Amino acid sequence: MAARKLFLLAGDGIGMEIMAEAGKLITCMNDELDLGFECEEGLVGGAAYDACGKAISEGDMRQALAADAVLFGAVGGPKWADVPYDVRPEAGLLRLRKELELFANLRPAICYPALASASSLKPELVDGLDILIVRELTGGVYFGEPKEITDLGHGNKRAVDTQVYETGEIERIAAVAFELARGRNRHVTSMEKHNVMKSGVLWREVVSAIHAVQYKDVALAHMLADAGAMQLVRAPRQFDVIVTDNLFGDLLSDVAAMLTGSLGMLPSASLGVVDSKTGSRRAMYEPVHGSAPDIAGKGLANPIAMIASLAMCLRISFGMNDEAGWLERAISAVLDDGLRTADIYSNGMQKVSTGEMGDALVTKFKQIAA
Ligand code: NAD
Repeated sequence: MAARKLFLLAGDGIGMEIMAEAGKLITCMNDELDLGFECEEGLVGGAAYDACGKAISEGDMRQALAADAVLFGAVGGPKWADVPYDVRPEAGLLRLRKELELFANLRPAICYPALASASSLKPELVDGLDILIVRELTGGVYFGEPKEITDLGHGNKRAVDTQVYETGEIERIAAVAFELARGRNRHVTSMEKHNVMKSGVLWREVVSAIHAVQYKDVALAHMLADAGAMQLVRAPRQFDVIVTDNLFGDLLSDVAAMLTGSLGMLPSASLGVVDSKTGSRRAMYEPVHGSAPDIAGKGLANPIAMIASLAMCLRISFGMNDEAGWLERAISAVLDDGLRTADIYSNGMQKVSTGEMGDALVTKFKQIAA
């Protein structure tokens, strides 16, 4: 069996604590199920800056490019607030996204039944929620040119951002959404604003065209992004997979995130293009949250977002649907048992540390996988 190469970049703050818990699960999978994961560790963010004056070293960048998948913790913190802009901690994350060409950002919003009361919506609206937002990550208004502020004189300025998409960019993100929908409930909702934006007209046209040719087995609906935001908080369970551009995806995924209760629970994946020779694709998996300097080093961090990101890695990069499902069931089971880190704690539950939550997940995973 070929080794499965994981490159672990824990980063800063709670990044190190939650990655240690993911490491326990990987060790357990190797020991119990002989999955053959080979892990290398590198530095990113402030930790890399302290070691080599860069947000990620050239050697670690090469390792990230060579790995089957990268697991990323979180970067940043007050210690590096004044470092030069191009070597600030976040620059490491941006460089990884750019050089791995990660154009598809996947953010699931899953509401575990045991946490339905932690959502800002009524429990009956979110209980059992399981939606996936597929956001285009490398195009659109964040990158389009021109992007400038022009001084018009007399105290007047003009700011321009350019929303721009080409057919191929839309096709490849739509294909990711349709492929993923095939492993779920076979329903994709595409969101744009074709009523006021030319890029929205093209988006809708291209998504419809690729659907008609390659993905007729998946249902496709179109929705204006503003109506989509409203529907996400009105009746979120109507959605399965949502595909949208960089800007709308940024907003809609944050809305969807809040439906699930806590930042400490939210995983993500970012995918690159499929290599035509090997059939594999570069990918990075990371929790949505940051390095949480306010709680770092105190054993308070919730490791579930990191471990749910590992589950996404098993499923997407290695096709291990069973193992991913077992890990997700282990998360559900520890929550059903009443175990809570401080961020999701409520009266009557059992408060546990980061390490205790990780240990409980290992125990549950072993039981479920046996
Ligand atoms: P944050 O996500 O780090 O924290 C926001 C709040 O949520 C804090 O109160 C924190 O304690 C809590 N929180 C976050 N993750 C948690 C977890 N797993 N368990 C329990 N509580 C958790 O956002 P922030 O405070 O705005 O940013 C802190 C640093 O992280 C900044 O330097 C920021 O630039 C960086 N950041 C990095 C990433 C990334 O690496 N992908 C993302 C966002 C922010």
